Amino acid sequence: MAASTKLSSFRLPPLPTIGEIIKLYNLRAEKQLSQNFLLDLRLTDKIVRQAGCLRDAHVFEVGPGPGGLTRSILNAGATDVLVVEKDTRFISGLKLLSEAAPGRVRIVHGDILTYRMDRGFPDTISKPWDGDPPNLHIIGNLPFNVSTPLIIKWLENIANRTGPFAFGRTQLTLTFQKEVAERLTASTGSKQRSRLSIMAQYLCTVHNCFTIPGRAFVPKPKVDVGVVHFTPLVQPQIQHPFKLVEKVIRNVFQFRRKYCYKGVEKLFPEASRFELTQKMLQNADVDPTLRPTELTIPQFRALADAYAHLCTHEPSLLHYEFREELRLKPLTKQGNKPEDTFIMD
Ligand code: SAM
Repeated sequence: MAASTKLSSFRLPPLPTIGEIIKLYNLRAEKQLSQNFLLDLRLTDKIVRQAGCLRDAHVFEVGPGPGGLTRSILNAGATDVLVVEKDTRFISGLKLLSEAAPGRVRIVHGDILTYRMDRGFPDTISKPWDGDPPNLHIIGNLPFNVSTPLIIKWLENIANRTGPFAFGRTQLTLTFQKEVAERLTASTGSKQRSRLSIMAQYLCTVHNCFTIPGRAFVPKPKVDVGVVHFTPLVQPQIQHPFKLVEKVIRNVFQFRRKYCYKGVEKLFPEASRFELTQKMLQNADVDPTLRPTELTIPQFRALADAYAHLCTHEPSLLHYEFREELRLKPLTKQGNKPEDTFIMD
């Protein structure tokens, strides 16, 4: 009883609906900024529930727009919500929300891709990496056009314990285009298994929570949307520098429908390609005729170990980029690069 009374004290006073805010401030969605709004607060509440308990939490919200998700975060009991929004037109509506929840909303007009989140919260909320996650959550109905670069950037931050992860194992609850959500959580052998699956799963426990049909958004996007929850692992499943791991995974998935050795080969310059590919696959004990989608994370770990070992003997390998070499090669008669049949994830 006492607990519910306490939580009810977080609830916002009556406010114009999100639909009314959109009309009031004439907030026509901008396609360029991937703006698709959620007006149904039951749905935004459901997204916020995936983050877990937000009582007294610090929350970083990406792209609050008209503020539907922000309201749900506040109603769930967060006491400090830092929002970063790129589009100036939303700032007045967000100020209205901030006045309704005094001292609980901080508004930054800026770009999420460059904002320094490590400066946004006090050091006192930090938790040791091997302890429980800090009471800090990243939540966002992400703009489609930045969701993949943003999650790659945050995965690199997780590997290096920088940015939002300087506070500990900060959890993330984010939306993605449904197909991207499926790739992030795809298991070995599944059709959706891709570079993103390995990158996310070697560093985090990743959970595809539920799918929101496109029709729930205004305006309706052409695709459905998946809500994904990430908790950084105490021990990453692959323990090499992020850039090295990313390079191995990217190359292996370069030809996702072919045997994995085809991608492994591209880690090495032409002169030593055959010999080093054989060595790397043998040392990793990986069957060269497996497809990239069939490889497990321990197999990627073995491949990264074997590649790192080869690089300690020949450090120049680390700087070798097949695509760079390809870029510099002359075009064939048909106007194609010699090997431009990659299928990227
Ligand atoms: N959170 C709101 C909701 O659920 O209704 C809006 C979601 S909308 C899909 C994405 C929001 O991110 C928009 O408000 C857009 O202006 C904002 N946005 C787009 N690119 C951004 C960026 N680089 N940095 C910060 N915000 C951005």
